[in-house]
Amino acid sequence: MLEGLKATGLKRTAQREAIVREIAGDLTHPTAQELYERLRPSFPSMSFATVYNTLGALSAAGLSRTLHLGGAARFDPNAAPHHHAVCDVCGAITDLPTASLEADGAARRAVEGAAPGFSVREVEHVYRGTCARCEREATAG
Ligand SMILES: [Zn+2]
Ligand SMILES: [Zn+2]
Repeated sequence: MLEGLKATGLKRTAQREAIVREIAGDLTHPTAQELYERLRPSFPSMSFATVYNTLGALSAAGLSRTLHLGGAARFDPNAAPHHHAVCDVCGAITDLPTASLEADGAARRAVEGAAPGFSVREVEHVYRGTCARCEREATAG
C-alpha cells in the first residue's frame, strides 16, 4: 500500500507513510478519529485533516475502502470486495469473503427484476447481530 501512495498523487511524507502503515495492518475498520488519536503521540504536529484527507485519497485510488455503516466513516485496508458482520453490542466489524457476483446468479436475477437496467459495480452485505464474545457474555451474565 505504501507504493500505492504514489498513485494517489499525494506527496510521500513521513506522516502519510505512518498513516498508511497504521491502516494497512488494521482489520478493525477504524475511523479517521481513531487513527488520528493513535498516531498523534508519534506525530504531535499532525492534523486531523491530514489523516482524513490521506484516507480519502487512498480510497479514491482504490487502495482501501471507506465504509458507511452509520456514524463516522470507517476505513478498510481490504480493497477486495467483501461483506461485513457488525456486532450490535461492541461494534466489532469482521470481514467476510464474498463470491463474485457472477457466481451469484440468483442475486443478479433479483437485481435485474427489481431494477431493470441497473448496472451493478459490486455487492456489499452487512450482517448485523452479536459477535461470539458478546453472545457469551450475554448468556453468562
Ligand atoms: Zn461484540
Ligand atoms: Zn472490511
